[in-house]
Amino acid sequence: MKKDGTIPSFFLLNLESNIFMEKLFIYNTLSRTKEEFKAINAPFLGMYVCGPTVYSDVHLGNCRTFMSFDIIYRYLLHLGYKVRYVRNITDAGHLEGDADVGEDKISKKAKLAQLEPMEIVQKYTVGFRDIMAMFNTLPPSIEPTATGHIIEQQEITKKIISNGLAYEHNGTVYFDVEKFAKTNNYTALTNRKLEELLENTRELDGQEEKKGRLDFALWIKAKPEHLMKWPSPWGVGFPGWHIECSAMSTKYLGEQFDIHGGGMDLQATHHTNEIAQNIAYCGKSPANYWLHTNMLTVNGQKMSKSLGNSFLPMELFTGNHPLLKKGFSPMAVRFFMMQTHYRSTLDFSNDALEAAEKAYNRLMESYKTLQLLKASVTSSENVPALERECYNAMNDDFNTPVLIASLFDAIRMINSAYDKKATLTQADIDLLNNIYQHFVFDIMGLKKEEETGKANVALEGVMKLVLELRDKAKVNKDFATSDDIRNKLTAAHIQVKDSKDGVTWSI
Ligand code: AMP
Ligand code: ZN
Repeated sequence: MKKDGTIPSFFLLNLESNIFMEKLFIYNTLSRTKEEFKAINAPFLGMYVCGPTVYSDVHLGNCRTFMSFDIIYRYLLHLGYKVRYVRNITDAGHLEGDADVGEDKISKKAKLAQLEPMEIVQKYTVGFRDIMAMFNTLPPSIEPTATGHIIEQQEITKKIISNGLAYEHNGTVYFDVEKFAKTNNYTALTNRKLEELLENTRELDGQEEKKGRLDFALWIKAKPEHLMKWPSPWGVGFPGWHIECSAMSTKYLGEQFDIHGGGMDLQATHHTNEIAQNIAYCGKSPANYWLHTNMLTVNGQKMSKSLGNSFLPMELFTGNHPLLKKGFSPMAVRFFMMQTHYRSTLDFSNDALEAAEKAYNRLMESYKTLQLLKASVTSSENVPALERECYNAMNDDFNTPVLIASLFDAIRMINSAYDKKATLTQADIDLLNNIYQHFVFDIMGLKKEEETGKANVALEGVMKLVLELRDKAKVNKDFATSDDIRNKLTAAHIQVKDSKDGVTWSI
């Protein structure tokens, strides 16, 4: 990598390839154009992605965003960057409706479940990591939590107050948006007019203490019944939702870093406010490139917990959902996600999943066929050109659907050679193996089925069946059979727990 952040041609030798690397172009939400990527301090690269709010199981929409950034992370690593990838865990400060008033999502769940908020955080953080591992997404370099960075959030808040861009009122600290907007472009990410925003924002109940209606909270006074609260110079309270990302990105990546990402739904408020906070704090916009992933939809509507149209990954793996015809392996789902570019919406349907599963199986079958090919002295195919196309696709804003189209060209070449309708030299066969290794396994993060959590998925299915049989026995008052099932499961190290909410099992 050159000092200016571009990738030199010698890099290709590292890749044991003989093509010239194209430049990497990334669509930057800030400029609304594709820009040539230049790292601030190559080969080091800092990337921050807003992580999940851990108050319930992640749904497939969330997974789409994290898988998209996983592919981006993997490609940057492949290009030779030494990436520090920070993805936070939001475990405090995210209120219902993404607002400044109301209940904390985690506290609400804790009260309902009669658990400590940190038990909720632990449960869903572990669940999130398990699902991410099943999808073969790489863990980030640092996974900081909002509750672990209360001091840092307070320090930034203090500085913004002393810089005259925030004010305290009755124990709550607000960011003064209109004052900030006098000398800065508050809406740089969305290009919306401030007047328009003001017109569309109505005064909300309980927020009369704000000077301006666009002002948002950096620190919020805790009501006595609020569970997660900390002492501060402004009294007992908790941080606002946006300040955690300013605090954690600055702490681990510095005041200016390369890439900031998240779902498109975070662009207008969360990220707009994050940029404003950073500029108000240190005079610098945090990231050079802002990347936003588009939404996973169901019948054209955003998949979300609140709309009640979300699918959980486990439901998809087991097929245990009324709208699913069957289960799909994590790798087939991952492939499904990659068939669409990360900036386009992706609609979720049985048919699309089935098509993706078939295509994924073809890609994997073809790899097996590749291992059986016999080399010829001459070649009738242009494999180096195909490799170049793969790089071109990824260098064009990580265009995975175009990459997949090129990989299907590779399948065609492999099958033709196997059927003796075409010839490949040993160098071609080696290069095709490299293409698989680099693009299919390293960058797309696909694994051969036998390496996946297929066994886990199968166990889920079997357990569903066994517990249904036990349930049936109970309904028929055949308690001998239902107890027998339970005891035999215990002997097999599977604990079954009956509660008023239903039956659960664990290993
Ligand atoms: P949350 O847990 O609600 O804070 O969301 C975690 C991440 O998932 C954020 O980056 C959201 O933008 C993203 N997200 C939420 N819903 C969807 C969806 N339907 N499709 C894609 N990404 C989503
Ligand atoms: Zn964030």
